Amino acid sequence: MSSKMLKRDDSGVLHVVALSGGHDSTAMSFLLKKREPRPYNYVCTPTGDELPAMFAFWRWLGSDAGLGSPLVPIMGGSLKNLVRQEGMLPNFRARFCTRVLKIEPYRKFLMEQAAVGPVVSYVGLRADEQGRAGGAYADIEGVSMRFPLREWGFGENEVQSALADLGVQCPHRTDCARCYHQRIGEWYELWRDFPEVFDDAVADEDERGATYRTPGRDSWPSSLREMREKFRAGLIPKTSLARMGRERMAAGGCRVCSM
Ligand code: SF4
Repeated sequence: MSSKMLKRDDSGVLHVVALSGGHDSTAMSFLLKKREPRPYNYVCTPTGDELPAMFAFWRWLGSDAGLGSPLVPIMGGSLKNLVRQEGMLPNFRARFCTRVLKIEPYRKFLMEQAAVGPVVSYVGLRADEQGRAGGAYADIEGVSMRFPLREWGFGENEVQSALADLGVQCPHRTDCARCYHQRIGEWYELWRDFPEVFDDAVADEDERGATYRTPGRDSWPSSLREMREKFRAGLIPKTSLARMGRERMAAGGCRVCSM
């Protein structure tokens, strides 16, 4: 990526905000802009498998009505191509997608930019999740990491009230459409609202002879083909959106993809 697309401050420091579009990174980005005005560079790491609401939200965030500076996508390839290259589906035991499509490209980007001048990377980890690490970037020479939500003592409640005050509503899913972390209710919504994407995920499973979902996790079939039959037969999972999100995170949902 050309450094000309990026803005450094008067001291030559590049301020990079990792913005997934989830609640935490969105609240952090708006509050940083307000509390610590400086030229920020907002970056996201799309996989090409996000739902339309996610792309629309990224566009809005980059507009003058949002953060006023277009997001810079850092691409490490697409989920679809990665599955072909690896010859397997990502799942709970093989979490290669986040590493290859998000962590490694962001690390490469930081290294390239640190070779030009100092970089500060802002990450939206909250004060109420102290156990979580901030990514494998702090060792890069010339890169310093900041966790503003932690510095401000912001937990989930503070993030939610900041978003309410700002009048910002994040999409309820910021992950990949076919992410193996999603809950049954989210698979149902994917089948109902984006049947062509669901069918494509069924084709992935047929092609690889494997399933995105780990077998035996609940009473629903692990195979999306069988799950689709149940949906077609009128079986509808009863879960609220908020509960689905909480369940996804409690089950080890990918923090890099949802922050
Ligand atoms: S959202 Fe899910 S499928 Fe997409 S990169 Fe993250 S863990 Fe992998």
